[in-house]
Amino acid sequence: MTLPPAPTPDEIAALRDRYRAERERRVRPDGPGQYRPTEADLGHYAADPHAVDDADRAPVRDRVDVAVVGGGFGGILAGARLRRQGVARIRIVERGADFGGTWYWNRYPGVHCDVESHVYLPMLDETGYVPEWKYAPGEEIRRHAVRIAEQHGLYPDALFGTAVTALAWDETTESWRVTTDRGDAFQATYVVIATGTLSEPKLPGIPGIEDFKGHTFHTSRWDYAYTGGTPDGGLTRLADRRVGVVGTGATGIQVIPMLAQDAAHLYVFQRTPSSVDVRGNRRTTAADVGADRPGWARARRENFLRVVSGEPTETDLVADQWTASAALLEKLLPSFRRPAPDRRAAFEAAYERADAVKMNELRARVQRSVTDPETAAKLQPWYRYACKRPGFSDHYYQAFNRDNVTLVDTADTHGIERITETGVVVGDTTYELDCLIFATGFSVGVSGVLTGRLPVHGRDGGQLPRAWAERGPRTLHGFTSHGFPNLLQLGSLQNASSVNFTHVLDEQAVHVAALVAAAEAEDALIEPSREAEDAWYATLAEGAADHAWFHAECTPGYYNAEGRGRPDRPSAYPHGAVAFHALLAQWREQSINEVLQPRTRRG
Ligand code: NDP
Repeated sequence: MTLPPAPTPDEIAALRDRYRAERERRVRPDGPGQYRPTEADLGHYAADPHAVDDADRAPVRDRVDVAVVGGGFGGILAGARLRRQGVARIRIVERGADFGGTWYWNRYPGVHCDVESHVYLPMLDETGYVPEWKYAPGEEIRRHAVRIAEQHGLYPDALFGTAVTALAWDETTESWRVTTDRGDAFQATYVVIATGTLSEPKLPGIPGIEDFKGHTFHTSRWDYAYTGGTPDGGLTRLADRRVGVVGTGATGIQVIPMLAQDAAHLYVFQRTPSSVDVRGNRRTTAADVGADRPGWARARRENFLRVVSGEPTETDLVADQWTASAALLEKLLPSFRRPAPDRRAAFEAAYERADAVKMNELRARVQRSVTDPETAAKLQPWYRYACKRPGFSDHYYQAFNRDNVTLVDTADTHGIERITETGVVVGDTTYELDCLIFATGFSVGVSGVLTGRLPVHGRDGGQLPRAWAERGPRTLHGFTSHGFPNLLQLGSLQNASSVNFTHVLDEQAVHVAALVAAAEAEDALIEPSREAEDAWYATLAEGAADHAWFHAECTPGYYNAEGRGRPDRPSAYPHGAVAFHALLAQWREQSINEVLQPRTRRG
């Protein structure tokens, strides 16, 4: 591969200034407070378009071995891995009418996974399934979630259309009492919380948002009854409609080309352009990925994680723009792994050069693809790679060459200024619309226990999240906490994450299942000591500052609390997912008994 010429120091300095200016244009004093949850008078934005009417379901009042809160990939994988450990009664409680989590909710036109399907879809070795596309459409992924659930017998005990409202530890039976919004009240020896990190749709708090009298919805609740068509397109009912779409993140990039094809006119309200790299989706065969070899999917997934984590690897099996960018930005990754203080400046300078090469290439792609120079200029991203979730598409920029598509840049007004009964106001212009679609993303982490939305009452009056109010969350490896026996959390709290989040979730599911199996074998409770929690916190704190410089200089978004930077408290394992998974495997091998406490009673 011929690399573009390295930028000169003057060019780098000019870029630095431009990035700072573009960031300052966008930072808002209200930060994350600019958004509104889909509740109260905006609650209809969160209604389930796929709901089934099972109003007659009788409340359950029995006892199960494990209750799992959430039926997305986290919950399904926990269920599957527990089943493989021999656990009999596993009850997954899920708000949607079926399994799938984000792939249940997000069925918008064009929905695809932007991570290669052969590494994204979990348990391919175990289920024998081989994906049909390099980047799978959402429906193929949703069906795979259902496949795993079916193959592991997770349907019979599941409760759908149901939200857990509280968890309370019952000392007399040494089990959790689980209550729901459907009147259920049952006992579970163990609880796994798998509520996801980006599961609550959010809306911008634009004045007048509730006044709009046209049709409106959030992309995660697509209304095909209104638009016509399917996730593959054919939105024929938009043929005479003026449609506005707010948001150009990973979702907007996928949905905009589909809307452009079918709407009479499409207005794209953009605040910050995404970086949009080459996609190159194509059909794949089992032979392409060596799917005849046992363990092929695990090997490919491990290889991808190593490459995108900057770990030494001989081959790059996935070979796409995620892995190519990781190689180009490898200078960034050592700095995440704590260079000595006297080497930090050199690391950062090398990173800045590599980043400039990548971002110049992406800006040149916009210029090549978009015919109107003014529109092309507005679509160019001016921030460092990975400040926002990188995007991929071979259709996105072409949509702006159509006569029926108008790009409305809202950076100078910090987004749309006002919504009226009939349209959207930006600057001096009102855009009259029949339909307004919000591709404005999700609140980060609100569905878990951290916000108190799901109160968890532990031992001796301890309650989450109150118990963590003063010192911040305390866990061992992110999974377990003192005072909350047999409570196991999945997600991104105090562990390590990756762009291939299902891989991370599967490792977590394996870990949780091993904990339950060990506790059952020893007839014990799972509960770490305070000392173990403090030791883990100290490990996290060692690397806490390493990401800070990067996020502090980034354009606002949910990665950096809308420009405010990362929280002071350490929230992630500093040495990356590969090292974290190895650490967990070793701990299971050598130290798992540390968290097993004698039971006093058998419920
Ligand atoms: P994002 O939060 O990434 O994007 C929201 C968009 O709405 C941004 O463009 C934002 O602009 C814009 N916006 C917010 N408020 C306003 C306003 N007042 N006026 C104008 N524009 C506004 O949400 P997405 O749903 O796109 O993506 C969320 C995450 O979901 C991704 O980061 C990714 O992790 C995941 N995802 C993954 C996919 C996959 O294929 N694996 C596909 C889709 C999503 P600004 O940038 O200025 O804030």
